[in-house]
Amino acid sequence: MNPGSWRREFGVALDVIREAATLARDVHQQIGDRALLKVDQSPVTVADFAVQALVAHRLRQAFPADPLVAEEDAAWLRSPAARSTLQSVVDALHPVAPDLDANRVLDAIDRGRGVPSDRFWTLDPVDGTQGFIRGNQYVVALAFIVCGRIEIGLLGCPRLTDDRQDGAGSIVCAVRTRGAFRTSLAGREFVPLRVSSCREPRKARVLRSFQSEHIDLRTFNEIVAILKVETPPTLMDSQAKHAVIAAGQADLLIRCPAEREFQERIWDQAAGSIIVEEAGGRVTDLRGMPLDFAAGRILARNEGVIASNSHLHAAAVSAVQHVTTHR
Ligand code: AMP
Ligand code: MG
Repeated sequence: MNPGSWRREFGVALDVIREAATLARDVHQQIGDRALLKVDQSPVTVADFAVQALVAHRLRQAFPADPLVAEEDAAWLRSPAARSTLQSVVDALHPVAPDLDANRVLDAIDRGRGVPSDRFWTLDPVDGTQGFIRGNQYVVALAFIVCGRIEIGLLGCPRLTDDRQDGAGSIVCAVRTRGAFRTSLAGREFVPLRVSSCREPRKARVLRSFQSEHIDLRTFNEIVAILKVETPPTLMDSQAKHAVIAAGQADLLIRCPAEREFQERIWDQAAGSIIVEEAGGRVTDLRGMPLDFAAGRILARNEGVIASNSHLHAAAVSAVQHVTTHR
């Protein structure tokens, strides 16, 4: 693929996403379920911390002036109760970044507290933590945003395999106006991605979160019923869903917030959005409004997400409208 004027940014990001996705996979192989911790009620793993430290460290080396806006911070890791976890993170990083001792790991993780600016990166080190633990999908998600517009998105997907190729995991990536592509986690060949041509809502292959508590299931079911979708939805964790839509292997993703006040975090949507769009699809909120990545760490001006092959988008937006106005 030809990244145009973002050649250097894309090159660095591709190398780091490959390294980071491989690290997450290796942490799971070595620590498995024991990687899981609960901090403030939300699940987090040794892999989340190790991946965030690695990506922050590499981006600081390459682009020291660019802020990083990422999901984790090191507040809990700095507490005495977290000493053995911190050591596990340092140990996991040792093969790839032996220069990162405990203090440097903590500082690198806290680089993720950056404030969105004219030019910044956003990272979800392990998107779909529950899928990571369960043995289902998860991704490392990295995006580059300039003046509120996503310019580059990459998803490192260790469990998204393409059997026609080498059976290894995937990297799915896109650069604005340059298309969306898949490459193997182990290889260098880029295959262009294209959304499906499905135009009949009832034939849609629909995706939703695996974790039912992340969405309003009743509203979701009503929308799917109005569209007369014939096949039950496929449940999948993380922005792997966006990668599957970009590849034409599903047609529609609907995310209705479980609680009205919930607002999506930019690292949960940015990389997946540009990948779907560059593959020919559309991404908006539930009202059909563009996702506004200039509103800070959260999508404060949007509610929910619809991602589609573009052909089904208008039907999905009007089904949502129908459900919300007939309550
Ligand atoms: P998914 O696997 O598509 O459900 O997306 C996983 C992401 O959902 C996580 O990275 C969280 O940031 C996000 N999340 C966590 N809690 C909620 C919630 N209550 N509603 C919506 N999304 C959530
Ligand atoms: Mg996430």
